[in-house]
Amino acid sequence: MSAQHDPNCVFCKIVAGQIPSRKVYEDEDLFVFHDIHPWAPVHFLMVPKVHIPSMAQVGPEHERLMGRLLTLAPKLALEQGCNPYPEGGFRIVCNTGQEGGQEVHHLHVHVIGGPRPWAKG
Ligand code: 5GP
Ligand code: ZN
Repeated sequence: MSAQHDPNCVFCKIVAGQIPSRKVYEDEDLFVFHDIHPWAPVHFLMVPKVHIPSMAQVGPEHERLMGRLLTLAPKLALEQGCNPYPEGGFRIVCNTGQEGGQEVHHLHVHVIGGPRPWAKG
């Protein structure tokens, strides 16, 4: 693996196909897959393919990547079964650092939605 990946990172391994996942979407920069422990009827994770530990490391060089990630989220949310805005909608969560509740240290955005009740939130 190149320096853009961390051989000990679970999400780098998912991106590389070394750990199986239920893939939602993939392009040259982004990988999207279902969360293994969903809180809600729709719960997927969007990650950059490069290893960025968290939002705390995001800089100007990532503007295009993060813009693409966020603009893709609503499209995938609808495709995955979230109901349309405004009655439906979804939640986008990006836990960052220990106090932010981050468990996996590869930048990821949770997209959560579908009919309530949800297990969390
Ligand atoms: P965090 O608390 O870091 O924002 O959330 C990490 C998320 O990754 C959790 O919701 C957890 O269920 C999910 N997760 C952790 N390991 C795996 C895995 O191996 N496969 C998948 N699909 N999800 C994972
Ligand atoms: Zn990683």
